[in-house]
Amino acid sequence: AHLERINEVDGDVHAFLLVDHDGAVEAARRIDSRIASGEKLGPLAGVPLAVKDLFCTKGLATTASSRMLEGWVPPYNSTIVSRCKDAGMVILGKTNLDEFAMGSSTETSAFGPTHNPWDLDRIPGGSGGGSSASLASFESPLALGTDTGGSIRQPGAVTGTVGIKPTYGSTSRYGVIAMASSLDTPGPCARTVLDAALLHQVMAGHDPMDQTTIDQPTPAIVEAANQPDVAGMKIGVVTEFAGEGYDPQVEARFNEAVEMLTAAGAQIVEVSCPHFDLALPAYYLIQPAELSSNLARYDAMRYGLRVDDDGEHSAEQVMRATRGAGFGAEAKRRIILGTYALSAGYYDAYYGSAQKVRTLIQRDFEKAWQSCDVLVSPATPTTAFRLGERTADPMAMYRCDLCTIPANMAGSPAGSFPIGLSETDGMPVGMQVMAPIMADDRVYRVGAALE
Ligand code: GLN
Repeated sequence: AHLERINEVDGDVHAFLLVDHDGAVEAARRIDSRIASGEKLGPLAGVPLAVKDLFCTKGLATTASSRMLEGWVPPYNSTIVSRCKDAGMVILGKTNLDEFAMGSSTETSAFGPTHNPWDLDRIPGGSGGGSSASLASFESPLALGTDTGGSIRQPGAVTGTVGIKPTYGSTSRYGVIAMASSLDTPGPCARTVLDAALLHQVMAGHDPMDQTTIDQPTPAIVEAANQPDVAGMKIGVVTEFAGEGYDPQVEARFNEAVEMLTAAGAQIVEVSCPHFDLALPAYYLIQPAELSSNLARYDAMRYGLRVDDDGEHSAEQVMRATRGAGFGAEAKRRIILGTYALSAGYYDAYYGSAQKVRTLIQRDFEKAWQSCDVLVSPATPTTAFRLGERTADPMAMYRCDLCTIPANMAGSPAGSFPIGLSETDGMPVGMQVMAPIMADDRVYRVGAALE
């Protein structure tokens, strides 16, 4: 049914870069016969899954939406893809994203943008716009995402779906094409809170192949998703995320959701996080710095694209021509920014200062946890804008992640949950719920109460 739905609508939505029709049918048949033979399988056995094209899939092309990797077929699966397959999930295909996951609209994909199923003229968010659009268009019931600055939560918010960024280090990055390694966090995308928790449960846990993974049991997220009880919970409203730049309709839905949580017995407290305003500028130093270093591996020598390899050109010339042709404009912009921020003489002024701001943001969170159990804010300042509207203005594009970036800077878990539609444009609005490190269950508890 999902493959048929993809056939029907993906010409318009363009959520997928690759649909593995035959592989999916074959995998589903194998699960069917295991069930028929009486084998007891987990709750997600046979459930289709859309995979962001940043996760390596053995035998299935993986591009990161870049010309640089076009046609590359990984010889191995990322840990998370292996875990999903072991759970009996059926991979439908690979979803579109911003090139190397940098962007907020899926428009930096080298293979054309994805369209928001609610209004095809509008963006589906990014970088994981393909994953979120595949859910909103009912092409897939579950999807994998990665969140470095908001790429699961922001697409979730603007497509009316659920997106969870787990605690950094609780989901393995092994086999996920690296962007900014100290921030990159794989997580689940779904249409319901319980669906997200079930997928999260399969994805999470220590991985010997990723030394940054935490060797602790996953918090009781499935139980929390089944228990929409916020009575007695202290919910902090971040005062910094309001006012100028926020769509009044986003603020209206947010205030209604806060009232709903109050009616359900939660205690609302106002919490000031004074350094959250600095998260965006600090992120746009740290993220490009790490990205410039991670993208240095695309040197035309080891794998991927190779231009001017005719024996007439030097290695350096081949490298320059390949990187010039293989990377899109946003990748080039960030490689230049990041290399500059890390260069001798500027390192302390830029990268060093940004790291200090990161510590201040972590302290804001620690202070907040003294007075509340979770923090809430709008997930995005505005609803989905029109395709093309912000492509010429990187600063306007970067502002999409104003509310989501602090959680990445601190490594905290956070989720985005649908809380209604804007009366102006009819587009979905999301609420963000943030919790302390390894208290991902609280995100689900509040999310379930909002459903
Ligand atoms: N939009 C942010 C950026 O462009 C976040 C990307 C992400 O989370 N992968 O960097």
